[in-house]
Amino acid sequence: MPNFTDIILPIPLPKLFTYSITVLESKFLKKGMRVAVPFGKSKVYTGIVFSIHEDAPTAYEAKEIQQILDEQPVVNEKQLALWQWVASYYMCTLGDVMRAALPSAFILESETVISKNIVKAIDESILKDDEFLVYEALNHQSSLKIHDISNILDKKNVLPVIKRLIEKEAISVEEEIYEKYKPKLVRYVKLHSHFSTEKALHGLLDELSRAPKQREVVLTLFSISAKTKKPVKVSDLSNESGASSAVIKSLIDKDVLEEYHIQTDRVQYSGEETEDSKQLNNYQKTALVEIKESFKKQNITLLHGVTSSGKTEVYVKLIEDAINQGKQVLYLLPEIALTTQLVVRLQNYFGEKVAVFHSKYSSHERVEVWSHVLNNSERGQIVLGARSSVLLPFNNLGLVIVDEEHEQSFKQFDPAPRYHARDTAVVLANMYQAKTLLGSATPSLESYFNAKQNKYGFVEITQRYNNVLMPEIELVDIKDKHKRKLMKGHFSDRLIEEMTETLKLGHQIILFQNRRGFSPIVECNTCGHSPQCPNCDVSLTYHKYRNQLRCHYCGYATAMQISCLACGSQDLDSKGFGTEQIENEVKSLFPNYNVARMDLDTTRGKYGYEKIITALEQQEIDILVGTQMLTKGLDFRNIKLVGIMNADNMLNFPDFRAHERSFQLMLQVSGRAGRTDERGKVLIQTYNPYHNILQQVSTNNYVAMYNEQMNDRYNYKYPPIYKQIKITLKHKDFNRVETASIWLAKSLRQVFGDFVLGPESPPVARIRNQFHKNILIKIPKKQSLLKTKEAIIKINNSFQSIKDFRSVKIILNVDNF
Ligand code: ADP
Ligand code: ZN
Ligand code: ZN
Repeated sequence: MPNFTDIILPIPLPKLFTYSITVLESKFLKKGMRVAVPFGKSKVYTGIVFSIHEDAPTAYEAKEIQQILDEQPVVNEKQLALWQWVASYYMCTLGDVMRAALPSAFILESETVISKNIVKAIDESILKDDEFLVYEALNHQSSLKIHDISNILDKKNVLPVIKRLIEKEAISVEEEIYEKYKPKLVRYVKLHSHFSTEKALHGLLDELSRAPKQREVVLTLFSISAKTKKPVKVSDLSNESGASSAVIKSLIDKDVLEEYHIQTDRVQYSGEETEDSKQLNNYQKTALVEIKESFKKQNITLLHGVTSSGKTEVYVKLIEDAINQGKQVLYLLPEIALTTQLVVRLQNYFGEKVAVFHSKYSSHERVEVWSHVLNNSERGQIVLGARSSVLLPFNNLGLVIVDEEHEQSFKQFDPAPRYHARDTAVVLANMYQAKTLLGSATPSLESYFNAKQNKYGFVEITQRYNNVLMPEIELVDIKDKHKRKLMKGHFSDRLIEEMTETLKLGHQIILFQNRRGFSPIVECNTCGHSPQCPNCDVSLTYHKYRNQLRCHYCGYATAMQISCLACGSQDLDSKGFGTEQIENEVKSLFPNYNVARMDLDTTRGKYGYEKIITALEQQEIDILVGTQMLTKGLDFRNIKLVGIMNADNMLNFPDFRAHERSFQLMLQVSGRAGRTDERGKVLIQTYNPYHNILQQVSTNNYVAMYNEQMNDRYNYKYPPIYKQIKITLKHKDFNRVETASIWLAKSLRQVFGDFVLGPESPPVARIRNQFHKNILIKIPKKQSLLKTKEAIIKINNSFQSIKDFRSVKIILNVDNF
């Protein structure tokens, strides 16, 4: 009997490929193992065994596999089942899912580039001869392709050698190497607590009258703290008093001064569990009991807890329970909320059991987490991860936590699989009969709706921890302010007043503007022309710092023009504003304070993000200007004021979720204010203070927002009432994409009638020289989703068979965001 195996290849093929194997191989091979297989004329891929059978393919002659790469499966059966669900639900191929799931070091192929592992030096004596040859070659050449290695070893079959080298950590698969960010330690000093009484202080100053230099240092310390109301850095003290660091050191040695570092929660993880979990307050206790009760009846529960209510500590108790039963835990977070702060907080409770799975980590680290999870080892029993960690090889999962469950970044936008990690996690948990807790201060309408329908359990925490008050939210009518000439640039008199007050007290400020750059539109006052991107149908954004015009869709950049390209006039004006302009204005309004900016442009470099957070934590920044990056994961005691520069551009964004999202964004940013005993303040500047969403934000009324938005969703047939699938067509030729989209929409209408909308050009109709058209299919709840997709696939197949349309790219996005 001939033997065959169906292989998932890491490329988007609609079908699996069948290869032939020997009897011996068929006895050894198991589902989920990796094999090296030839593909096309000369390529070699790493594939995953999907099935083993005796049916020869009919359409082609099966090739033989080259090599079995594993002794045990690296992908387990439940995982394969989840991959199949993802592929079928999100209408993509198993190859797409495989690529998203596996760390790149697992997927060796002809195109793979390897280089020496520069993070770690290895003992060369552990290398076998062929391994050494490759390793040695990397001393002369920084990177090698599989093909080069074939030449070096003079054989075709080299993947096993590479795999062994990876396992010995001698080489890396090409990608950015991630190193852990270590914040620079800043030294601070304060007067030792012995001298806190006036009497003791006088005694000290008398005593120091014989050491005038030291006395001067102490007096300078007083004057700096009185002036800045902030912790005093050793370097500032030394500069202002003119004393050398030796003088300061002697004061520290004499216990006159005390030295310390500000590093909230950032103790370097020492490898041990150092803390017991916290005693919950009554609100948290009640919530925990209710969650456990609801888990008895339902697998999924939504926890709606206001910002800073201590949700994380409730999660910690559930995690303790799960790991005490020997179960695995998945803790999902949006990428950007996955900060060092949180990682350290959990490691303090759970030590080495916590593993972090994050796109910023090197492939080695990801492979390590993968095998811990696969082998159900104690290390990695708790996986803290972003989106793709839902695709890890769990085998004993007991609990899934999805924090900030409303975050849109849980949905992958590009490339396929365009999956939603929260929804996929729910399916994953179901496979294991595990419990899922969704947590948010501003739940998605989808989840809240499910809770209302009793599909999910529902638990609330309405108080902030320690009875800290919710910040006071004030709406500032800037239309009126403009009329009465009370604006300075983009700042109202109210905002300036509050900022001045906050800074005087030594507190910090966050200013939110959801656009980066200086100003999004440059316009000629003479002829009205504004510079456009040559590749996209969108105006270029002015970035003052680099004096550039840049496209935020394709990255195109050009020097700022002095005169209008159309008419030559030099009378150019800019409209709208971004973070860069706000930063500039703040700097001139408050020249004596430190201002920083956090957006895509300032956090691009390595650790850009971490550096800004550390500086904020160490109070080196007084005012931080930023985009939505600010909304997540920041927990800083000293921020007392949040300013939202302009609420209107969020509200007016052309998307059916714009209102829901504005509400979530504004409440989340507001949640950064006043996390300690003093009440924080939030100022929202707007042209339309009577907008319902703003009223709902200012009264923190989630339910009112929910009811109103759901009304719209019913009326206009949007999710969560209807499901929807968005089809995007792309081509460089406008006429072609237009004809193709009309054809497609017409065919879809024959099946789905009025539930097909479009084709329509999106607001930015051309991106990277590709014209886009969208078609939307709305699916009533009672209509079978499976049949709907089958019909779409059938129509798509007919579409592909039309010669003219074949080059049009089609993107299917299920549950589009
Ligand atoms: P949320 O996730 O709801 O925004 P967090 O869990 O981050 O809130 O809690 C906010 C702050 O309150 C954190 O600094 C946390 O350490 C503290 N906190 C929460 N619960 C407790 C508790 N039971 N005991 C001590 N501190 C707590
Ligand atoms: Zn002009
Ligand atoms: Zn562009």
